[in-house]
Amino acid sequence: KNPFAKKVIAIPKAEYGGRHSVTMLPGGGIGPELMNYVREVFRYAGVPVDFEECPIDPQSDGNEDLEYAITSIRRNGVGLKGNIETRSLSRGILSRNVALRNELDLFVNVIRCKSFPGVKSRYQDIDIMLIRQNTEGEYAMLEHESVPGVVESMKIVTAENSERVIRYAFEYAQKHGRKKVTTIHKANIMKLSDGLFLETSKRVAKHFPDIEHDSMIIDNCCMQLVSNPHQFDVMVMTNLYGTIVSNVLCGLIGGAGLISGRNYGDHYAVFEPGTRNTGTAIAGKNIANPVSMLNAAVDMLEHLGHQNHANIILQAIDKTINEDHIHTPDLGGQATSIDVVQSVVKHIQELTKDKNWS
Ligand code: ATP
Repeated sequence: KNPFAKKVIAIPKAEYGGRHSVTMLPGGGIGPELMNYVREVFRYAGVPVDFEECPIDPQSDGNEDLEYAITSIRRNGVGLKGNIETRSLSRGILSRNVALRNELDLFVNVIRCKSFPGVKSRYQDIDIMLIRQNTEGEYAMLEHESVPGVVESMKIVTAENSERVIRYAFEYAQKHGRKKVTTIHKANIMKLSDGLFLETSKRVAKHFPDIEHDSMIIDNCCMQLVSNPHQFDVMVMTNLYGTIVSNVLCGLIGGAGLISGRNYGDHYAVFEPGTRNTGTAIAGKNIANPVSMLNAAVDMLEHLGHQNHANIILQAIDKTINEDHIHTPDLGGQATSIDVVQSVVKHIQELTKDKNWS
């Protein structure tokens, strides 16, 4: 008997008069412009979502902005997020992205790395689910200089958080007809921390006899990913390996501008571009690819139960990228961000023309 089968995760969603309220964290770099594109696309698709915008000053020495944003997500249950910069020079100010995930206990990051048929890349037909522990490991932010010239940094792995994320991976596999879960680790060197993660995987796997389970060391995993990515199905790993592997995978598929990432806890959900880049160098130039943030917005709509709106926007993105080949420079094209958004809007109008759409 599967002891996890009955666990139901209840995530609150603020809804007023049929409209959902969602916290919007534009972040820095290209974040604000990408959010404007989401607003534009939502307007044309008639999406019943109102945003509560929470800007965060990267240079501030306090955390009032962040606390306000966290309170807003607690109230709304759901957030859409760009990457938040931390430019304060104060030593006590830690990464606000990490702080937000920890405060809301968003213990799992989920990225679906699926090829776009219309985007030229080294491989086609990749469809890998990457499940990453999102709140501990090397991101514990516990570093100190014990004596001058010697820095200690703690990697925290707990049985409880490992089990939660591994269980999520197997449940996901079961629910979505996936065949295999691969645990990525470095337990040959980090025998206790990664050892615990690996042992927990083996223990959880026993409760899912229909799903094949194997494991791979992170360095071999990187080599296998670039030489034969089709061998992977669902991958589960600790925090730092997750950020590296997700970037490798997004790079294999077409770069930082396409794929979205989902962050879940037992109570809240936050959606963002998969690679979590700030894109400072390309901000304000009308060249950032809007697709990763639009896909994050689609994930958010699915989470809120607005499946029809999500489908329409997804189809419009698909037509723009895979059929019309309207590609920004990151995909080797010459289109501007606005060209992409205008094409998405045009397809939304066509797709909803004959329907009683509101
Ligand atoms: P920084 O905080 O210094 O900006 P970062 O780790 O956030 O660094 P970036 O340099 O922002 O990473 O992003 C990595 C690469 O991905 C850059 O070349 C950037 O231009 C590109 N990139 C990120 N997002 C997008 C996007 N939406 N469209 C096109 N290119 C993107």
